[in-house]
Amino acid sequence: MPHEVEVPSRDAERFRSVLEPGRYAEFAHAAQQARTLLDGRVVWNVNSTARGGGVVELLRPLVGYARGLGIDARWLVIDGTPEFFELTKRIHNRLHGSEGDGGPLDEHARRLYEDVLAENLSAFRERVHADDVVIVHDPQPAGLVPHLRASGAAVIWRCHVGVDEANDLVRSAWAFLLPYVGRADACVFHRSAFAWDGLDRTRVVVIPPTIDVFTPKNEDIDGSTVHAVLRTSALVADGEVGAPVIFVRPDGTPGRVERQVHSVEDERVRTETPLVVQVSRWDALKDPIGVIRGFAEHVPAETGAHLVYAGPDVESVADDPEGARMLRESVALRASLPPDVRRRIHLVSLPMDDLDENALIVNALQRHASVITQKSLAEGFGLTVSEGMWKARPVVASRVGGIQDQIVHRESGVLIDDPRDLTSFGAAITELLQHPDQAETIGRAARERARNNFISVRSLLDYFALIRRVFGVS
Ligand code: UDP
Repeated sequence: MPHEVEVPSRDAERFRSVLEPGRYAEFAHAAQQARTLLDGRVVWNVNSTARGGGVVELLRPLVGYARGLGIDARWLVIDGTPEFFELTKRIHNRLHGSEGDGGPLDEHARRLYEDVLAENLSAFRERVHADDVVIVHDPQPAGLVPHLRASGAAVIWRCHVGVDEANDLVRSAWAFLLPYVGRADACVFHRSAFAWDGLDRTRVVVIPPTIDVFTPKNEDIDGSTVHAVLRTSALVADGEVGAPVIFVRPDGTPGRVERQVHSVEDERVRTETPLVVQVSRWDALKDPIGVIRGFAEHVPAETGAHLVYAGPDVESVADDPEGARMLRESVALRASLPPDVRRRIHLVSLPMDDLDENALIVNALQRHASVITQKSLAEGFGLTVSEGMWKARPVVASRVGGIQDQIVHRESGVLIDDPRDLTSFGAAITELLQHPDQAETIGRAARERARNNFISVRSLLDYFALIRRVFGVS
């Protein structure tokens, strides 16, 4: 049976403190229009998990802010069998262009998929009314779309996965899902290049993801808090360890930074050392090996800079053998470098026991960075890029996927055309380290660009416009 996730409402008035008055007025006006249009209706969000993953990160704040604005937004999670989730993982992998478990997407798979979703349907029939809006997220619940449409509700399907160039595996996943998602009133993608062949283009809408700026990950924290967090978590060596850092969790309860990071390093960094930072999972597509090599070979010692590649503690992510392997490879590469290069490289595993604590450590590390990198080989969107931009940091990132929509090259960051070009990667970092004025100008422009385009307000405005559109209100 599907279950409903309780989402506490969030106070959208807070955006007043970070937006230009005109932009806030635009937002307040659109919210008022949406409230009127949605009076007596429910906006349902449907996905397949309440914990973990990017979709949850995006959904929780948007549902919370919508509720705070007086819109009856709710969140339902479908139920499935292990075989169903094996199948949907296969579809997910194929949408990324990879084989996954190698299993088929045949008629048997289709029957399994439809049977499990049919078991979820009665709960939807009880709850969803003809006046409602349903936003269905990702492949797992996509098969519900035609049934929800038949009930009279307006149905939007949002795809959180995409690749720059589709191969046959990608197309096979499209073919499997098209009979369902093709029936939606609108299909939403992160970027227009991700929209599928075979969909009615007039129903395709682009809504890039956004970050929540009032969470431990992104909230504004002052320099002394940054230092206290870095010192307490053992990221930097110097300075007093004072009282534990207390912070406010998104649910309003207090949290403490008390755990330490595990670093593979010769010596801890000192506060005054300029840092080049990449915060990413230990994943081949985030290219930790390329980041280490690029830094080691192309960022000269005279910059005085050290590299920190920080990812989740892989021991805590039990089902991530690939992460553990990637970390081992990174450690081995670091160990093979000459001592004077090796000592400038720190491989950091961040504690994951308390995700708010983890988020505050990421926040402090990103704020402390002189340069942030995101040297991905492929990327759906790349939230870390917006996170760095929001913190007014200069970001050096690959021109792939959604990253190229975030950074305007040389204005609000630096894009590297070929993600495997270590020379250009190192040169861009070096230039920013050697020209702090330029780095600061880019960082300031990045903050502005993130403010206008990549914080929750923008997603809410886009959703309001989309809902007006599916109701035929201009
Ligand atoms: N992240 C984190 N702790 C880590 C590594 C990553 O909180 O140790 C966060 C990061 O700040 C970002 C998200 O995980 O919010 C990663 O999203 P992104 O879109 O950059 O990449 P994905 O991991 O979804 O491919």
